[in-house]
Amino acid sequence: MTTPAQVCVVGSINLDLVARVERLAGPGETVLATGYEEIPGGKGSNQAIGVARAGAEVAMIGAVGDDEAASTMLAALDREGVDTSGVLRREGATGRALIGVDDRGENSIIVVPGANASLGPADLDAVGDRIAGARAVLVQLEIPLDTVQRALEWAREDAWTVLNPAPARPVPGSILSRCRVVIPNEHEVAGLGGVSALLDAGVEWVIVTEGARGARLVGQDRDEVRIAPFPVDPLDTTAAGDAFCAMVTARLAAGDPIHRAARAGAAAGALATLTPGAGPSLPTWAAVESLLSA
Ligand code: ADP
Repeated sequence: MTTPAQVCVVGSINLDLVARVERLAGPGETVLATGYEEIPGGKGSNQAIGVARAGAEVAMIGAVGDDEAASTMLAALDREGVDTSGVLRREGATGRALIGVDDRGENSIIVVPGANASLGPADLDAVGDRIAGARAVLVQLEIPLDTVQRALEWAREDAWTVLNPAPARPVPGSILSRCRVVIPNEHEVAGLGGVSALLDAGVEWVIVTEGARGARLVGQDRDEVRIAPFPVDPLDTTAAGDAFCAMVTARLAAGDPIHRAARAGAAAGALATLTPGAGPSLPTWAAVESLLSA
């Protein structure tokens, strides 16, 4: 048996099809792209890569199809040093995300789940020892909810269980009660009934990310701590949230207190806005450390 990784990410793996546009298309509207790229993405995969760049050992649990995108994604994860031995290969298509990014750095995203939708709770039972061995388990909502729940059930009692509730969808109390940290953006936290509702459900810490305004951290004592933003001139906000969640989780696994981990997350989120796309923009610990000490 191999030594379990410090961090286990259970989540989606997508190939991102990214079009640059002057402005995002509204309903019924067609716009011409000014650029196009295919790059590694998916919240699970992005966050696994983010955790690896943050300097933690990380294993990815997820599913890809049997198409070319599957090989592209596995190679991308391998290149970053993410352990992909827990990634299943299914018949059919790998997940895709259709992404538009406008001149102001705003984005609009359609996710096509593909193989991600086939990742079931029983699949996790086959790799449960990896989840149980991790110091931190990081999940998002681009895979079936009962699979998210099973991942949290496999996590060790004293592990940091971190949920990034994205994309926005209702989350049952049976999931929330197993999360020690929940990291929503402003839109997602509103859909979940607000910070108090999450704390009432048993979450220890809620960190709401607020884009250019930074973040706020609230614990069971209900005191709110503001995490100031690091001033940047954003080029593309895709994956700022992924960078934030990955850095927070990696730092928690490394033993940082939550306040320090949140600050490192804000630095990672700010740095992620400086590079276009998802995968390419996730910062290293070295970059975050130098911004933190600047
Ligand atoms: P999401 O991409 O999930 O909506 P946010 O946009 O809230 O997430 O970004 C996550 C974090 O990244 C923020 O909490 C903040 O710390 C950092 N961040 C994002 N955009 C900016 C920005 N324009 N300037 C500085 N920091 C930013």
